[in-house]
Amino acid sequence: RREEGDELAVAPSSGKPPVSPDSIINLDHGDPTMYELFWRGDAGERATIVIPGWQTMSYFSDVGNICWFLEPRFEREVRRLHRLIGNAAAEGYHMLVGTGSTQLFQAAIYALSPPGAAAGAPMSVVSPVPYYSSYPAVTDFLKSDLYRWAGDANTFDGETYIELVCSPNNPDGGIREAVLKSGTCVAVHDLAYYWPQYTPITKAAAHDIMLFTVSKCTGHAGTRIGWALVKDRAVAQRMNKFIELNTIGVSKDSQLRAAKILKAISDGYEHAPAAGDRNRLFHFARRHMKARWGALRTAVAASGIFSLPDELPGYCTFAKETVAAYPPFAWLRCEKEGVDDLDGYLRERKIISRGGTKFGADGRFVRISMLDTDEAFAIFVDRLAAMK
Ligand code: PMP
Repeated sequence: RREEGDELAVAPSSGKPPVSPDSIINLDHGDPTMYELFWRGDAGERATIVIPGWQTMSYFSDVGNICWFLEPRFEREVRRLHRLIGNAAAEGYHMLVGTGSTQLFQAAIYALSPPGAAAGAPMSVVSPVPYYSSYPAVTDFLKSDLYRWAGDANTFDGETYIELVCSPNNPDGGIREAVLKSGTCVAVHDLAYYWPQYTPITKAAAHDIMLFTVSKCTGHAGTRIGWALVKDRAVAQRMNKFIELNTIGVSKDSQLRAAKILKAISDGYEHAPAAGDRNRLFHFARRHMKARWGALRTAVAASGIFSLPDELPGYCTFAKETVAAYPPFAWLRCEKEGVDDLDGYLRERKIISRGGTKFGADGRFVRISMLDTDEAFAIFVDRLAAMK
């Protein structure tokens, strides 16, 4: 018998209206709905959880841990996944969970700003242009006395600052190292896209603070779960304090779901490799990204008025072959005379992108999400190819 609420099981997960060839196509956000196809298959069944009414009621998960609201099952699956992929040296690091990596980014800048900074000299937060547009917005929205956005890391004039290192970089896919000009600078590495569908895995990252998110790894952005790997115990404690004060903890229901999702991925590689890409998320997603980048480059060539960053190949220690990078965003530049506001130009043609100025770059650039649905993406490349 169907019960009230059962319809949630079959509703489209994105809540977006269907698109048709004359629809407005919104590729502003990096909404990872591309992954839905994978999770609608066998893997989705294996990632299902049922939470009875009496479960996950306490605030606490692991009282002996710095991060006392971290679900042990989630921690286990995160560490297992890093061992499988080889993208981060999680061994010896403290792990924290956050409501998306967005919360952990705020926890990190809070933890790295000396409490004395409130005396009138807030800590500067910088990142090289083009930087992820949320960094300035999130850093400054509460006008904290502890820290403030100070723009481009390359031109910043100062000795003490926090540098946000996003690699592969949102918006342009660049592989980045910290610029850090002096010993009093500290870096936060945002590794949201350091997964094999987007870039060759070349080494196990081992930075002081590393941020990851389920959103871009598995596509479950709505689950709102991210994690941080932190080397220093005192920094981990301060980051945890931020989350305690901000939201007391992080949804256990979401953590349990994320644990099951990560388990389904690792199991797909370790226990069911013969089943092919149906059970191998990173292979499935890489195949999709490759097809999309191929279609986009063909459309850009057909149009003749755009350019894209070059394809960056490398040897992937996870795939055990040389593969190209397929960034989650296209950093598209318009070469046509007189088009200085590409965002506006595309908007007139019913394509919503995010303009270059939001990333500290100029208006000839836009960022386009490569992770939307097949239907939206197909309409986008068709329209782009026709622009002359
Ligand atoms: N870092 C980067 C570079 C991102 O692109 C995003 C999402 N757009 C995030 C962090 C935040 O991810 P979430 O809060 O969903 O974990």
